[in-house]
Amino acid sequence: MTFDTPITIALSKGRIFKQSLPLLAYAGILPADDPETSRKLILDTNHAQVKLVIIRATDVPTYVQYGAADLGVAGKDVLLEHGGAGLYEPLDLQIARCRMMTAGFQDVVRKHGRLRVATKYVKSAKRYFAEKGQQVEIIKLYGSMELAPIVGLADLIVDLVESGNTLKANGLVPLEHIADISSRLIVNRASWKMKHDTVMRLMEAMRAAVAKNET
Ligand code: ATP
Ligand code: MG
Repeated sequence: MTFDTPITIALSKGRIFKQSLPLLAYAGILPADDPETSRKLILDTNHAQVKLVIIRATDVPTYVQYGAADLGVAGKDVLLEHGGAGLYEPLDLQIARCRMMTAGFQDVVRKHGRLRVATKYVKSAKRYFAEKGQQVEIIKLYGSMELAPIVGLADLIVDLVESGNTLKANGLVPLEHIADISSRLIVNRASWKMKHDTVMRLMEAMRAAVAKNET
């Protein structure tokens, strides 16, 4: 692919960056640096017009919403919390797949009062329990949710589960399935219009890479 217009793509370090690499490579984009070893927050690529910004996973929708990045790769979990304002979400990249679940000790019971649920996914948790008609108290955490039931901070957690090994290592079990999670390509609404050709070609190249991965 050739790029005749400047394009900035927002990515987070770790699994999203690693799993996005082959999809970007399919579109001919090769980063000049490895974010795991480089301290740079803006990575050049083999195309002078294409830059990657490396930010926290939860910040990716915000950068794209405000046009600080034209495109981004964000987990559906993060998008559910963000709400999707100012964004298009045209492509499921089928990477960083896991499930959003409730988890706790096998025998969760609370005789008095509402169940306490610790999570960083406050919106998703609220919606899930509201739809079940279950009154709960949500406690916002920023990480290590597995600890909450162990120390009696909460009865349940809402977290992402892949193998279940982290839960198991902490004596917890996955209980109820809330949503299937994967990462999505997101696009700023103004960039979608103003940089339409480039965005479309990039998106179609990534779509082809996803389809190839599925076969
Ligand atoms: P930070 O570690 O900086 O607080 P984070 O925990 O959100 O941020 P990651 O753990 O790299 O960062 O997760 C980024 C995204 O990858 C998540 O938003 C989610 O979509 C996906 N993800 C998280 N955990 C898993 C998992 N166990 N298996 C598969 N995908 C996951
Ligand atoms: Mg993490």
